[in-house]
Amino acid sequence: MIYDLSQNSSFTDGVQTSWDSTSIKLIMTCPRKYFYKMMQNWTPREVSPHLLFGGWYATALEHYYKYVTEGKTSDEALEAVVKETLISTWTYRTEPSVEGDINYPHGVNIIKDKDGNRQGYPWVSSDGNKTRENLIRTIIWYVEEFKDDENTPVVILSDGKPAVEYSFRIELAPDIIYCGHLDRLVDYGGDNYIMDQKTTKSTISDYYFKQFNPDQQMSGYTFAGQIIFGIPVKGVIIDAAQIAIGFSRFTRSFTSRTNAQLEEWRLNTIHYLQFAQSCAEKGQDEKNFPMNLESCSNYGGCEYRDVCSKNPGIREQFLKGKFNQDTNMWDPLKQR
Ligand code: SF4
Repeated sequence: MIYDLSQNSSFTDGVQTSWDSTSIKLIMTCPRKYFYKMMQNWTPREVSPHLLFGGWYATALEHYYKYVTEGKTSDEALEAVVKETLISTWTYRTEPSVEGDINYPHGVNIIKDKDGNRQGYPWVSSDGNKTRENLIRTIIWYVEEFKDDENTPVVILSDGKPAVEYSFRIELAPDIIYCGHLDRLVDYGGDNYIMDQKTTKSTISDYYFKQFNPDQQMSGYTFAGQIIFGIPVKGVIIDAAQIAIGFSRFTRSFTSRTNAQLEEWRLNTIHYLQFAQSCAEKGQDEKNFPMNLESCSNYGGCEYRDVCSKNPGIREQFLKGKFNQDTNMWDPLKQR
């Protein structure tokens, strides 16, 4: 089956030319997984609660720092992002509408009760720790923990602007653009670091932080920071939140890269991306994207394991039955 990639601006003639850390991770993990997810847009009917939780959490903290930079007080910014997150984690019940509703103009009406109150329901997580309540708690507790942090002031660039909220596009090689978004560049003890946040159910220890070196996303952030800000960037500060049923606990750690490591990352990344492009140039067929069978059981198991375990001839039918393939594709070039 050929999926229409013409609406995805990161593809040119069926070949991906603009890459973010999500799509780079896919091709490095398994070319077949890259094919199913990035090129054919097969997404599981039930989205992982860890992905949803992590996405809402990252957005809330990104917006918090943005609002503070724009002049809101910490309390005002926190109130705004909690409200946004409550709305994001709420689903309104809808019904088809011919005329539409000015509040929801997509050919559907939000169902209301007899008093005119809109009907809906909160996100119910299938994970006991990554719940809506714990999400809100973790956002509030994060801000409480770090709002008075004087150790990591935002770097002020030579043009006088704070180094926050940067979407970037960097040419790694002809026909290969590395793109993404950096929330903040901070000064820690005289060295510049990109800030990032992670969530986990695990106890946070030195072992937990070992996973970030080597790590393509952290190397990529450091590489991008050096290029777009035009100053030395030592690495990434990771604020990790452990999400437990009764508490959220935060631990900060650092991961650093040398210039030689960053050049190694650049060449290694180009190597993988050119390989992905050579696979795509052969045509949109799963046979052109080899399976990395050593990745199938990592991190709790690949979401396509039930597909790849089937006979090749019936995989497409299985995908159609168990996965969605809507038109809303992941596009690395879409600005936030
Ligand atoms: S199940 Fe294994 S081979 Fe199939 S997409 Fe996932 S990692 Fe690749």
